[in-house]
Amino acid sequence: MEIQKNVSLADYSTMGLGGNADYLAVIKERNDLVKALTWAESNKQPIVVIGGGSNIIWSDQGFKGLVIVNEIHKYEIFKEDEENTYITIGSGENWDKVVERTANAGLSGIEALSLIPGTSGATPVQNIGAYGQDISQTITAVEVYDSKNKEFMMLTNADCAFGYRTSRFKTTDKGRFFITGLTLHLRSTNMQPPFYESLSRYLSDNGISNYSPDSIRKAVIAIRSSKLPDPAKVKNCGSFFTNSIIPKEQYNELKAKFSDMPHWLVGTDKVKIPAAWLIEKAGYKDYHDSETGMATWVNQPLVLVNEHAKSTSDLLKFKAKIESAVLEKFGIKLEQEPEIVIIQ
Ligand SMILES: Cc1cc2nc3c(=O)[nH]c(=O)nc-3n(C[C@H](O)[C@H](O)[C@H](O)COP(=O)(O)OP(=O)(O)OC[C@H]3O[C@@H](n4cnc5c(N)ncnc54)[C@H](O)[C@@H]3O)c2cc1C
Repeated sequence: MEIQKNVSLADYSTMGLGGNADYLAVIKERNDLVKALTWAESNKQPIVVIGGGSNIIWSDQGFKGLVIVNEIHKYEIFKEDEENTYITIGSGENWDKVVERTANAGLSGIEALSLIPGTSGATPVQNIGAYGQDISQTITAVEVYDSKNKEFMMLTNADCAFGYRTSRFKTTDKGRFFITGLTLHLRSTNMQPPFYESLSRYLSDNGISNYSPDSIRKAVIAIRSSKLPDPAKVKNCGSFFTNSIIPKEQYNELKAKFSDMPHWLVGTDKVKIPAAWLIEKAGYKDYHDSETGMATWVNQPLVLVNEHAKSTSDLLKFKAKIESAVLEKFGIKLEQEPEIVIIQ
């Protein structure tokens, strides 16, 4: 394992922006991780571990410390019978390759999580989810290095405190655990209806009644590809804003002015408004900003795209323009997707 110096972090974020890391190390096995952590401790350097950089935006100042890039590989069937298969995977495995492999083998449990960019090790961090599945439904164990007690250990599903797009890895114990592997429980039985709305519509529009993992994977890939940009071709970090939740009184006032405003009731006194609709109506649908080099994605205004931005401050300037347009028109303050990390 080599400790590289002064490395551009733009290559380690799918947004393609950011300054340099003072130090960067690519780790291929557990032992490399221990060596990298020991080096950082003796050189008094802060650390951050990353996978594919699809959920990270680096500041223009870069990272004053050691960035650890996780490439720990493994794929092993750990236990199986006719109905159940348990697989153990290295945290540096490309997530979509794992989904492809399991779907091809007829194993169900993660097929709806197809085409989510990044590594397997990042999946528990925000409990990735899509089309009715999330990773907490199949994880039985997470292997971690605990930097507090300086030991490798296994966490059970319950230990991870999973919630909607969250876990202890991004909340109470952020930065404490380095995820090195996962064990997933997959099944030989197919997903069954009722499906998530857009998946259900796609299946019926295309006359698909075979719900095998491979068939669901293909449907999810088709839906996602029609809506979202491929980060290998277009620089982006997925959704940039969360849907807005506002008090019912504010919704009633807005409804009088904007009768076509889509909404869902949340509990009895709150209303959720799709942020994509707010951004579109504020004039930012398929918007190309010549000042910053940023744009909103043609089929999904929630996704900010780096067309030719020069810095993270360009991105933040564009983000601020959208936020103030929405605030001015609707009186609603957009929230940045919490999983986007700006590491100063
Ligand atoms: C086009 C696009 C579509 C997306 N669609 C979805 C979606 O449908 N659903 C969804 O949930 N997400 C989605 N995302 C977000 C993203 O793909 C996921 O959050 C993914 O799991 C991030 O993986 P990564 O390896 O790139 O993580 P990184 O961006 O490298 O890291 C993300 C966070 O996890 C931490 N981390 C990474 N690896 C480890 C590890 N081994 N141990 C401990 N901490 C670690 C990092 O420190 C950081 O805080 C999308 C992103 C894009 C660009």
